[in-house]
Amino acid sequence: MKKLFTSLAFLALTAGLLTASSPAQQAQARQEPPPLRLEKISERIYEVKGGSGANAGVFLGRQKTLVIDAKMSEESAMQMIEEAKKLSPNPIGAVVLTHSDGDHVNGLPALPAGIEIIAHDNTRQHLDEAFKEEKLRAYLPQTTFAEKYELKLDGETVQLLHFGPAHTNGDVVVYFPEEKVVFLGDLFFKGRDPLVHRHKNGNSFGLVKVLKAVLELDAETFLSGHADKASRGDIIELIQSLEEKQARIKGLIEEGKSLDEIKKVFNVEDRPAQPGRPRWLSLPEIIYLELTEKK
Ligand SMILES: [Zn+2]
Repeated sequence: MKKLFTSLAFLALTAGLLTASSPAQQAQARQEPPPLRLEKISERIYEVKGGSGANAGVFLGRQKTLVIDAKMSEESAMQMIEEAKKLSPNPIGAVVLTHSDGDHVNGLPALPAGIEIIAHDNTRQHLDEAFKEEKLRAYLPQTTFAEKYELKLDGETVQLLHFGPAHTNGDVVVYFPEEKVVFLGDLFFKGRDPLVHRHKNGNSFGLVKVLKAVLELDAETFLSGHADKASRGDIIELIQSLEEKQARIKGLIEEGKSLDEIKKVFNVEDRPAQPGRPRWLSLPEIIYLELTEKK
């Protein structure tokens, strides 16, 4: 058996050596992120795709550029600024953070020192706990709010809205009324279960409530951290699938099913715990815990 394995490994190795691979394939093999690029959404709004970390956003004001989220590495955040500079020579006026996850904030030190950073009160608190290095601590949000903050930018008002705990308890919806564009951070996922961070007081029922509030906005285009551009129909679909799961799990609990039995119904495989990180919880488990915990 060992011999067979060795010769197979040898074959695989020589096949790899003999096959010419493109730079893109080599990058993929090293697990490098795809190249960063700015995708035009409207005359002044661009979505930052690729690079390291979640999708971010750029709004080109007449005097200042607004950045939404800061990528996961300084390198990617720097590339984002360089790409924005190609479109507008204006300085970066402020950064809005949609929440506190590392893939949305760790690139902050690439931004100009002293820049205004705006976030929800609870995100400020999460970052105060997460940012240990002095370099990052210099980028704790100075402007925070609880429910609503109106950011005046060159005569246009950008609405920063918090509708309650959902992905975390510090999510900010960034709404551009004139463009009818909304940045949702991680409030929207497509083709997979949405992420709810219980360790940051996120809540799946809260997520349904928040998505319904988002649909009340006069908007057509919905951008998010890990999905392609979405429509109102996509948001409605996510609300429906969440509500169906919640109702199904409620029914299973009433039938007396255990958490393990419910996980089997949904084909959930737990992931091994990673050191220093909270255990990953599947959406069915989160819904189960929300429905069974004492209020
Ligand atoms: Zn997140």
